Amino acid sequence: MSESENDIRLTGDKPIPKQDSRYDDNAYCGRCGGDVIGRSDPDVERPYCSKCGHVVYLDPKLAAVVLVCQDNALLMVQRDIEPMMGRWSFPSGYVDRGEAIEDAAVREVKEETNVEVELLGLVGLYSGGGHSVVLAAYAAQVTGGELTAGPETQDARFWGLDALPPLPFPYDDSILSDWRRQYGPS
Ligand SMILES: [Zn+2]
Repeated sequence: MSESENDIRLTGDKPIPKQDSRYDDNAYCGRCGGDVIGRSDPDVERPYCSKCGHVVYLDPKLAAVVLVCQDNALLMVQRDIEPMMGRWSFPSGYVDRGEAIEDAAVREVKEETNVEVELLGLVGLYSGGGHSVVLAAYAAQVTGGELTAGPETQDARFWGLDALPPLPFPYDDSILSDWRRQYGPS
């Protein structure tokens, strides 16, 4: 290779690699509408506009997950949206820009189950290479509301801690074991 350090090595000019989550929402440039391709910068490949040269720096998405415990049971929702439609998972959702994470956590539980909660504390933060979402998991307890499924849920109910359904998402088992250690019944 005879490239100097300052050379831009184009790795693009080819179909967007669909398996790479960085390109999912970035097929076209937000500034000029040109095709977004990959470029080495110089060693990290980043999405990059083939027309105007704009480099797309992508932030992770932040989501809150809430483990609401009552009488040795955890509140779960049966998803009515993809991904994992039909599977049971903990109430969760994306944090809006400008919104406190704790407020998003409480809001998502209310939206998905109509249950009002107060947070007991952070269970942990979960992220990993190749994942676009960072999860903030909280422990919570019920303060009010009447349990009913929200618009994005087929069903919502409490599951006994000794009879939880298989959990669908990559960090679920870590979140659950961290929660058990910190907040679970002793
Ligand atoms: Zn552009």
